[in-house]
Amino acid sequence: MNRESVVAKKKFGQNFLKDESVLRKIVEAMPKNDNKVVEIGPGLGDLTKFLVDVKSVEAFEVDTDLCKLLQNTFEEEIITKRLHLHCGDVLEAWKNTLIDEPYDLVANLPYYIATNIILKALADPMCKNILVMVQLEVAEKFCATSGEKVFGSLGIIAQSVGEAKIVTKVPPTAFDPQPKIDSAVFLIQKSRDRSDKAFEDMLRVAFTQPRKTLMKNLSSKYEKAKLQEAFKELDLTLTIRPHQVSTKDYHQLYKMI
Ligand code: SAM
Repeated sequence: MNRESVVAKKKFGQNFLKDESVLRKIVEAMPKNDNKVVEIGPGLGDLTKFLVDVKSVEAFEVDTDLCKLLQNTFEEEIITKRLHLHCGDVLEAWKNTLIDEPYDLVANLPYYIATNIILKALADPMCKNILVMVQLEVAEKFCATSGEKVFGSLGIIAQSVGEAKIVTKVPPTAFDPQPKIDSAVFLIQKSRDRSDKAFEDMLRVAFTQPRKTLMKNLSSKYEKAKLQEAFKELDLTLTIRPHQVSTKDYHQLYKMI
C-alpha cells in the first residue's frame, strides 16, 4: 500500500491536513522546551515529518493500514528512535499517564473523540502543553472567557490549569477529504494540575440549563441557604447566568458550598 491508494476512513475521523502553511503554523506555535512530543493520529505522517525534525516523537495511530505505511515512511526515524510508533487505540493505551515523561501533545485530532482526548491530556500530569487542531466550535469553548456566550465548563477547566488561546482558524479546504465544518488550532499552556472531580461535578450542575440563572441550576443539588450566603459574599446577583461568572468566582463558590 502506498499513500496514493489510501482511502480515508470516516469511522476514524480521517481528514488529512494538506495545507503546508497550516502545518508550519502548528510547528511555529510549539512551546520551546525539552519535552517530548506526543502525536495522536499521525495519519499519513505529514505533520509527523515536521515534528521529527524538531523533537523526538511518540505517535499513536489506531488504523493498522496507516500504521504499516508509517512504518515504511519513517523507517530511519524509527531505527534512530526519533520516532516511536504505537499502533492501536490511544484511549486504551492511556491509563493515568500516556507516557512516563513530560510531553507536549501536538496533533490534528480525530474530531469524534477530540474533547475526550483534551480532557484526558488536561488531567495527565505528564502532559505539559496541548497544541491541537479540532473543530472551531470546540476550540472556542476551551478558549472562552467569562461573559462570552460559549463560556462553560470546558473554558473553566482549561483556565483552571493554565492559559488557552486560538492559534489559527482553518477552513475545510485545508483538508482532504474536506470536513463540513471549520476547524481551529489552539494552545493550552498548563501551569497547574487539573482541578478535582468534585469541582467539575459542580460545573456540570451550574451549566445544566445554560440560559437559566446560576442560582436555579445550583439549587437543584446544593443547599439554598448556603448558596444565598455564598452569592452575597461574592457579590453575585441572584439573576446572574452561569456564563457570566468568572473562573475565580467558581473556585470560591466551590469552597463555600
Ligand atoms: N495527523 C494527520 C493529518 O494531520 O493529516 C491525520 C489527522 S486525522 C484528523 C485523525 C487521525 O487520528 C487519523 O489518522 C485516525 O486514524 C487517527 N485516530 C482516530 N481514532 C484514533 C484513536 N482512537 N487512537 C489513535 N489514533 C486515532
